Amino acid sequence: MQKKCTRCNQVKDLELFDRKKENKTDGRKSWCKQCSSKHSKTVWSAYKRDKDHEALSASPYKFLKHWLINVKKPNKRARHPVHPSLSIEDLMELWNTQQGKCAKTGITMTHLKGSGKVDTNVSVDRIDNNIKEYNKDNIQLVCYRYNLMKHEMDERLLAFWCKTILQHG
Ligand SMILES: [Zn+2]
Repeated sequence: MQKKCTRCNQVKDLELFDRKKENKTDGRKSWCKQCSSKHSKTVWSAYKRDKDHEALSASPYKFLKHWLINVKKPNKRARHPVHPSLSIEDLMELWNTQQGKCAKTGITMTHLKGSGKVDTNVSVDRIDNNIKEYNKDNIQLVCYRYNLMKHEMDERLLAFWCKTILQHG
């Protein structure tokens, strides 16, 4: 006996469908085993991803540590390498000194993973862009949006553009 899977629309042998007592017609599920397993894998990985994001969002420590581990990955051909001595403790010291506020805007920074690009999320800024490396003496914590706006610019140049825009109204 054969049956058509309502998920992939393929006609398959009945044994390729899991049993389901509630189904009075043939005692099998309407999705084939392959579709069922594919589906539960998708559901599981989405669940796991959500859990991971939740864990990383729990504290600035976890969030920043995740950043640090990522940028320190040796296989990444980073344009802006991280000095090997830069540690999570250095970043947390900055966080505490800045009291969780963006060094340039004073906005209270967030640490939300999995919500796309969040403007207020904490990000690590190289104060002097000419120094290509992230090292302890050249970094501050700023909002993601500030970092984007600054891009390759010098702080003073960014300030000039901001002022000019405001003055022009
Ligand atoms: Zn199927």
